[in-house]
Amino acid sequence: MGAWGLGLFESDHDYDIISDLDAEAGLHKLAEDAQAKLKAEEEAKGIKHGEDDDENSVEARISYSIYADHCSDFDLVRTYLQSSGELEKMIEKWTAKAQGWRNPLEWHNPGYKLVLIGACAMMYGCTLKDEFIQYLRDTFTEVGLMRDALKQVDTTLNGPHGFKNGVPYKWGSFGVHEKAKNPDDDLLYPPRPGTAFTLINVPSPGPSLFRAPDNSAFIKKIKARMELIKQEKSNNVCGGCGAADGKDGKALLSCAKCKVRQYCSRECQKDHWETHKQLCAKPPGDPSNNERVKSVTMSANSLSP
Ligand SMILES: [Zn+2]
Ligand SMILES: [Zn+2]
Repeated sequence: MGAWGLGLFESDHDYDIISDLDAEAGLHKLAEDAQAKLKAEEEAKGIKHGEDDDENSVEARISYSIYADHCSDFDLVRTYLQSSGELEKMIEKWTAKAQGWRNPLEWHNPGYKLVLIGACAMMYGCTLKDEFIQYLRDTFTEVGLMRDALKQVDTTLNGPHGFKNGVPYKWGSFGVHEKAKNPDDDLLYPPRPGTAFTLINVPSPGPSLFRAPDNSAFIKKIKARMELIKQEKSNNVCGGCGAADGKDGKALLSCAKCKVRQYCSRECQKDHWETHKQLCAKPPGDPSNNERVKSVTMSANSLSP
């Protein structure tokens, strides 16, 4: 088992779960049927096929996954997940398992699996029930996500620039090859030159030989932030006084950094900054954002593990 980063989709652990979910959602069967059909059509035209691992083989050209970056037909799988009822069935099944989970030594925490199901569904822009999104919000800090995954899921669920229901969401995770090209400060176990394990530089989520670093202080911060969000006024009114309009009947003014929080006046913004600074964040893609976002944009077409 290896992990090459502390984010979602940056470990064998996550891809093993995805493979199980692909089978469970019926995507392996769907792909096999499509492969057989294409093979028959091409053979009828006299087209020869290579071995299974050949890049021209139908197996290499048709692969369906709940993880959109590994899928050869985004629209087909998106429609399938939305309309076959399989996604909903999986969410129901794993929510029930997560609620009844009593064995912390079990290899895959069902709550962790449920976060991955949600994350994958968001990549496809599936429309999710509010109660499911709320369940994820209530539980994601407790299921063993690693540091960067916690940050990712927090931003996604709690905003200010998170997942919009029904709109495809990009996670910005690094595949193993991208990670090798973009080393950052996640080298908790620095690579040993000359060994076969140079990329396996962080502990894997889930039970493993190495314990992941203690995230409890960080989780406390996330929870405090969620508490603040609950107390916040709607974004459609002034964050300070709650007025629906700006001064003299003008429109409300937006915070220059996040462009989400609105205010009736400079005074209300100043008074409210102590609170708002804990929630304020630049939109993704803003040029002054951190290196991680930049390198994801640059390597959008590069290899996945
Ligand atoms: Zn105001
Ligand atoms: Zn702001």
